[in-house]
Parts: sequence; structure tokens; C-alpha cells
Amino acid sequence: METKVTKTIGHFVNGRILSGSGQRYGNVYNPASGEVSGRVSFAGKTEVEEAVSAAAAAFPAWAATPPLRRAKVLFRFKELLDRHAEELSALITAEHGKVLSDARGSLTRGIEVVEFVCGIPHLLKGSFSENVGTAVDSYSIRQPLGVCVGVSPFNFPAMVPMWMFPVAIACGNTFVMKPSEKDPSCPMRLAELFSEAGLPPGVLNVVNGDKEAVDLLISHPKVSAVSFVGSSAVGEYVHRTATSHGKRVQALGSAKNHAVVMPDADLDQAVDALMGAAYGSAGERCMAISVVVAVGDRVADDLVKRFVERIRTLKVRPGQDPEAEMGPLVTGEHRERVKGYVDLGVREGAKLVADGRGFQVAGHENGFYLGACLFDRVTPDMRIYREEIFGPVLSLVRVPDFQAALALVNSHEYANGTAVFTRDGDTAREFAARVEVGMIGINVPIPVPVAFYSFGGWKRSILGDYFVHGTEGVNFYTQMKTITSRWPTGIRAGADFVMPTMK
Ligand code: NAD
Repeated sequence: METKVTKTIGHFVNGRILSGSGQRYGNVYNPASGEVSGRVSFAGKTEVEEAVSAAAAAFPAWAATPPLRRAKVLFRFKELLDRHAEELSALITAEHGKVLSDARGSLTRGIEVVEFVCGIPHLLKGSFSENVGTAVDSYSIRQPLGVCVGVSPFNFPAMVPMWMFPVAIACGNTFVMKPSEKDPSCPMRLAELFSEAGLPPGVLNVVNGDKEAVDLLISHPKVSAVSFVGSSAVGEYVHRTATSHGKRVQALGSAKNHAVVMPDADLDQAVDALMGAAYGSAGERCMAISVVVAVGDRVADDLVKRFVERIRTLKVRPGQDPEAEMGPLVTGEHRERVKGYVDLGVREGAKLVADGRGFQVAGHENGFYLGACLFDRVTPDMRIYREEIFGPVLSLVRVPDFQAALALVNSHEYANGTAVFTRDGDTAREFAARVEVGMIGINVPIPVPVAFYSFGGWKRSILGDYFVHGTEGVNFYTQMKTITSRWPTGIRAGADFVMPTMK
């Protein structure tokens, strides 16, 4: 059964829902049926001002709240997330389109970040050195930044916002979240649940909208830091604009993730793993595998044969169908863009061995479906190889040996994730050591780091110096202060005009 949501989505500011000024709206779709399921209010100056002011007003008291007490709110939030997991997953599927089991998995990954920051008293522990000089002690502490802003993409409406606001808030900051306008219901519900867990009004606010809201937020004088996740082109703009306004910025961008398959790999395992990594979530994952690098023609021919067989039986259905393996794309517009890349690949001379362009689901003819597509004999000069497609389109590139595979991966401008499939320890170790990519899988196709490690790519897949969540996330949302102290001891050394050193 498809979830039909007919509603107007507003904003969450200072602990309550605002309907917004009602001047601009965007459509929200049910991708499984192609129908408009609701509309979302687009924030302008009034809503952004209200949200930032609420966050700024809430900051002093929240920053002064002992971390242990902040953690108690996070524990209650985690319990509510678990209790509402089915409802939240259904919201993700209803507006994004991904299959329900995948929505649940992505929510779990977000909840794990909340679990990680339940340990915030420990994570914020500083360091102390006794007697850095005679009767002089030194200690470092980490303090929150102030009002932080998050801007997130459509493909993970729960997980990516939860990479940001739980960490920022645990550290004592207050937050304004601007989720994707394509699937805003889940982030709104997350804010309501956090509030129900006891989060004071104004600590977490959600403003919905588009570029106008983002521009107002990233240049706002009361905002201290901006976390962005989305395409590199927008990320570069956000990074440039926000840093020029003096903000601390982390911006995670686009990807083109390669999986290298060596001749000694377990091909049954590799094909299983790569089917999920390429076509899961209809390829709309920043860690999706979109390029298979087959080492040697024997491996390439074998892989193509196996992929074609598997694609024939791939269950592409509405995300709510418990049997579905792949759902529709997020919007009709995005489906057309992805289809356009398939047309382009054919024109560029790649061999389209699985063509999903005409695919339809009976009874859901207006849904935003595209069948799985596979190109063989893709070459590095082709745009379908160089650009991020963000759909169920897998490109196979043939290379003669491991060194050529490594050189190919390292020559791409995007460097989010990559994987190698091999039984050989030397090969795996050399790959991990020499590949110029942020997240590496060894026989693991989607190596998304768990919450207590940090997530981020290299090269054009990231701007700014900090990855998200894990200790890097805590460092991003805090600034260090180092205190050097001496208490009167009765020792009088007299005035000293030289640089202090240990005496
Ligand atoms: P997008 O860049 O179009 O949008 C991201 C956010 O920026 C949205 O909230 C959107 O409203 C806002 N935005 C869009 N255009 C803007 C503009 N001109 N000025 C200011 N703000 C703007 O990305 P998307 O299509 O929602 O998401 C898909 C992209 O996100 C893919 O490129 C994918 O690789 C990337 N992504 C990256 C990661 C990562 O961790 N590196 C994770 C998830 C998604």
C-alpha cells in the first residue's frame, strides 16, 4: 500500500510549527505513484530571522547546561526514535521513494550518531597538565560555537541531518536545519521528537526552503558554523559564501565511487555486493558504486554476464512493497536527467548492455521508475564516466592490471568512497595505502564509517577541514580554549619581561 500524504509542510521554530508566510511553496511528490502528496512552504527573510533569533536566544542557557544533562535529553530522543522508527521510515519512503528496508537501515545509521553523542560528557573531556611551570598548571577545554546551520540533500532525509544536529546540540550549540525541499517531512518529525524528549525551545529549528533560505542562513551575522552535504557545485558555492562571511564550514560534495574487481576475487560475493551498491536506493547514494573497474577481460566478460542475469530479475517496485529491491527515483525531473545520461552514454559509444529506460511498473505507470542500466566498455574520456549521474546506472571500465586500476581511481576528481574486491592481502593493503580516496572498502562495497568514526571524502568530494560525526564532528562543533593558571603561593619572583619559560 502506498502512503498518501496530502498536507502542507511548514517550519519548526522555537519549539512549535510555523505555517510560514505562504508566499512560496514547492511540491512534494510520492515517487511511487508520481502524484503530488503535499507542498512545502519556502522560508524567506521572516522565517529565517525568526529561526536564527530563536537559536541565538536559546544558546547561552543550552551552552551552560551540563553535558550530562544534555546527554539525558539525547538518551530520551534515542528512545523516541526507536519507538517511532516505523513511522519515520515510512515518511522517508513516501517522499524519497527508496524501499522501506533501506529507509529503516538509513534511519538506524542516523540513530547511531545519537547513540554516539549520548557519550558527550566523555567526548568533551579536556586535558590537564600540572606544573607546566613552577606552581603553574595548564588545561584545555572545548566550548560550543554558537548558532550552527545544516543544509542537507534529498537522498538521506533522516541520516544526513542526524550527522549534523545531534552532534552540534550535544556539544552545546543551537541549530537551524535546512533540509532538502524534496522530502522535508521526516526532518520535521525528527525536530518534534527531539522537542518531546525535552529539548528546550529554540535549540533545534527547521526551516524549509530553497536557495533563498540557504543564502540568508549562510550569510547571517548570528550564525557561527555551516555544515553542508549535497552536490559539489552547490557545496563550493556554500563554502565560498559562508567562509567569506566568517563562518566555520564543512561541505561534503558529489561522488563517483569505483569498485576494483581483481581476477582473484570471489565473483559471487562481488556481484551480490555490487548489485546492492549500484542499484540500492536507485543509485541515489553518495557512496553508491557507479563504476566497476574490471581487471582483465576475463573478469569483465564474466561480470557483465552475471550482472545482466541479475538485473533481469531485479525487483523494481514501489518502496512500500516488502519484496522491492529498488524503488523509483525521487522526482520525474531527476529521472529525466538520469535518462539523459543513458542517452548520452549511447551517443558517446559505450555499450549499453542493460537498458532500463522504457521500464514501467504495472499499476504505477506515472511513478518515477527507471530500470537498472549497465554500460560496458566505458572509457575515462566519456562524460558518463567523469560526471556524477546519481541514478541506477553502472559503468564498467576495463583495465589490464592492478596498477592501471589504481591510476584510474586516483585520476578522478571525486574521491568519496571506493572498494577493492580481492582475496589477496598484499593487493588489498597496497590499494588502501595508495588510493587517494576518503573511505575505502576491502570486499565491502559501501564502506560508510560507523558513527564513532568520521565520514568524509577527499578532493572535490569535500571542502573544509573536518569530516562529519565521530571525533571530527565534535571538533568541528567546538573550539578549543587553553587556560594557564597560577594561584598565589607566596613566592614573589618580581616583574619578568622575557618570554615565559620553565624556570
Ligand atoms: P543539491 O546540491 O542540489 O542540494 C543540497 C542542498 O542545497 C538542498 O538543501 C538544496 O535545497 C540546497 N541548494 C540547492 N541548490 C542551491 C543553491 N544554488 N544555493 C544554495 N543552496 C542550494 O543536492 P541534492 O540533489 O539534494 O543531493 C544529491 C547530491 O548530494 C549528490 O551530488 C550526492 O553525491 C550528494 N551527497 C553527498 C554526500 C556526501 O557525504 N558527500 C551525502 C549525500 C549526498
